[in-house]
Amino acid sequence: MSMIHTAEILCVGTELLLGDIVNTNAAFLSQQLAELGIAVYRHTVVGDNPARLEAALCAALRDADLVITSGGLGPTYDDLTKETVAAHFGRSMYMDEHSLSRIEAYFHRTGRVMTDNNRKQAMMPVGACVFDNDYGTAPALALCDETKNKTAIMLPGPPSELIPLFRDKVLPYLQERRETVIESRNVYLFGIGESALETRLGTLLQDAVNPSVAPYCKEGEVRLRVTARAADSQTALSMCDGMIDRLMGEVGEYIYGVDVGDLEHAVIDSLHRTGLTLACAESCTGGLIAKRLTDVPGGSDVFLGGCVTYTNEIKKRLLGVREDTLCRYSAVSEQTAREMAEGVRARLGADVGVATTGIAGPGGGTEQIPVGTVYVAISTKDGTEVRHLSLSPNRSRTYIRHVAASHAFDMILQYEKKQK
Ligand code: ATP
Ligand code: MG
Repeated sequence: MSMIHTAEILCVGTELLLGDIVNTNAAFLSQQLAELGIAVYRHTVVGDNPARLEAALCAALRDADLVITSGGLGPTYDDLTKETVAAHFGRSMYMDEHSLSRIEAYFHRTGRVMTDNNRKQAMMPVGACVFDNDYGTAPALALCDETKNKTAIMLPGPPSELIPLFRDKVLPYLQERRETVIESRNVYLFGIGESALETRLGTLLQDAVNPSVAPYCKEGEVRLRVTARAADSQTALSMCDGMIDRLMGEVGEYIYGVDVGDLEHAVIDSLHRTGLTLACAESCTGGLIAKRLTDVPGGSDVFLGGCVTYTNEIKKRLLGVREDTLCRYSAVSEQTAREMAEGVRARLGADVGVATTGIAGPGGGTEQIPVGTVYVAISTKDGTEVRHLSLSPNRSRTYIRHVAASHAFDMILQYEKKQK
């Protein structure tokens, strides 16, 4: 059996060249091949033109072991992919009775009249491996030249057919024909930016090839995707683990989990492990902490609830924040955050209380307390801690609120780390 290392994706359709449709099939196929560990070297798009298709096919199969085509398997005169590929492989066409009866049944089932040119969709190159299409009329197919180690896989253009055909039929076909597997794991960090992380890690990010380490940033967080290629999945995973150990050694204090998904999942998992309960009091985050925690299913035994205390009056009445504190230090202050966290912890009877108060903007900032100032507090049996954030005032309200909530989660995780 021929082995596949490299691939090209060749999409056929004048509509794509005119910009009438976006080439989502190429993106989908690339992602799928990357997961299989097959390297995609090129994307090509050609119109519905047999000469240019043949030229593109020649180049693709000169440079790659596999070409996957999308489109041009339909019944009309301009659907020429199959015929062109068959000619390139020097194969004649025959009527595949199995496909023909499936197409007839499809028309019967959907109550439509089958025209003569639909029969064309059942014509196959000699030696093709046919993949039945349960979602449309055109079967997909693979054609392989074993001596030259060249394979062409042809898929219909509509994504509603291409995606399930790929998953159900093509994936198992390719899995048998690749030499290596790829495994990846995600390491989640909070409290360090991408550039600071790069500085801390030195040349590790560039030097790491197998496993490779790729950083992704979003909303104040960094995710490092560690990817290893090996002969089998177990080896690849243990190579990933080796790299994760190295990362733990370098920047362990910022790592809050591996394959955890996000901070809120990490918090709920961690509370489940320690058995501690949590309550929150929110001013500038307006319920976002509670919302993100309740996005995680199964947290009701550890997250008790929270209060959205937006005005001074409600901060006093619901949480017991003192009039004197609000007057002397204002609502956006370390002291208010502290009393909010302590108040919600006591009144809801939780082991851990967290609170946020700040200015999320765009208005409302002053010289002393600019937009982006947030105080995040955590109260536990061991005392109360407050973190002062000075986020950039140019950031959006959404960003400031999100990052404020993330800091509350980080403080919970830091506290729980100390408990172990
Ligand atoms: P059909 O039997 O529908 O004619 P086909 O295999 O001949 O299928 P095309 O005619 O090339 O495929 O495309 C049919 C439809 O599929 C297009 O109108 C478009 O909506 C969608 N499509 C085709 N190619 C792509 C692509 N690369 N990315 C996303 N959608 C596509
Ligand atoms: Mg078509």
